[in-house]
Amino acid sequence: MYRAKNNGGGRYCLFSEELAAEHQLKIDTEAALSEAVQRGEFLLALQPQLSFVTGEVSGAEALLRWNHPREGMRSPATFIPIAEQTGIIADIGDWVIAEVASMLAEWHAQGIKRRLAFNVSPRQLDRADFFQRLRATFSDSGVPLSLVELEFTESAAMECSETVLAEIAALRRDGASIAIDDFGTGYSNIARLRTMPLDRVKLDPSLIVDIENSEKARVVVQAVIQLVKGVGGEVVAEAVENVAQADILRAMGCETVQGFVFAQPMFEEEYLSWTRNADRGSRSVA
Ligand code: C2E
Ligand code: MG
Ligand code: MG
Ligand code: MG
Repeated sequence: MYRAKNNGGGRYCLFSEELAAEHQLKIDTEAALSEAVQRGEFLLALQPQLSFVTGEVSGAEALLRWNHPREGMRSPATFIPIAEQTGIIADIGDWVIAEVASMLAEWHAQGIKRRLAFNVSPRQLDRADFFQRLRATFSDSGVPLSLVELEFTESAAMECSETVLAEIAALRRDGASIAIDDFGTGYSNIARLRTMPLDRVKLDPSLIVDIENSEKARVVVQAVIQLVKGVGGEVVAEAVENVAQADILRAMGCETVQGFVFAQPMFEEEYLSWTRNADRGSRSVA
């Protein structure tokens, strides 16, 4: 700091104060997140995924929410980045897996056989026993892996080690589904698509934006859909916000849709009654 001051102007000093404040915020948030895990302040919101082919609800994605004691419901964008930087995401991720297992176990007992997907952060994969513990959690709950889907972001999937890749492949052989999330944003190792174990690829929302108005956007999405199907994957369109987009995606051969146009993320009870209604009537997507 001595040098910064001597260099004249408070600029560097101010900068370092900003850095210190940012650092402090990180420490505070990390502590708060760690307490939040212990105090059970997290919840999972479930967003339905619909099949374009049958019009049925094929499953849902579990999305983390933090019911903050003072600030109310916080969305993951406000805390996942810090949770990832500090590594606390691994503990939060453990909670997510336990909660997914417990919901699936309950549904399974009620005869509801609907798949539930959850997001896996690359930091969770740093723990050597991640896959072993994950398997134990589901088998202890009596949940078949066929009801479980793991979502890895494109960049995580493309960068993970051969060891992790082998674990993912084994999990898939044992029945779990593997989805590549946010496809089309990361640095994509396209060559890896030839060997990557995957069932579904979720198009990043940025690919879909303006698809109803832009011919170029449609050309890009059509090519990506062809690529994904060509390697044996199912295409999921995420963040579909209007019927025009949905119609175009269906015509292009996209199989599954997840977006506000059909359903918002909901908490468990609401999700279950929503799916019961969906089962009874509306096949409006097909
Ligand atoms: P994601 O995994 O790509 O999840 C999809 C996001 O798109 C969700 O945001 C969802 O609410 C939102 N979305 C769905 N339909 C629409 C739509 O029609 N329009 C728009 N504008 N958005 C839509 P959310 O719940 O805020 O989650 C944001 C991100 O936070 C997730 O993106 C995921 O990367 C991360 N995340 C959420 N839960 C977890 C978790 O349990 N673990 C980890 N590691 N990350 C999580
Ligand atoms: Mg996801
Ligand atoms: Mg996504
Ligand atoms: Mg994402």
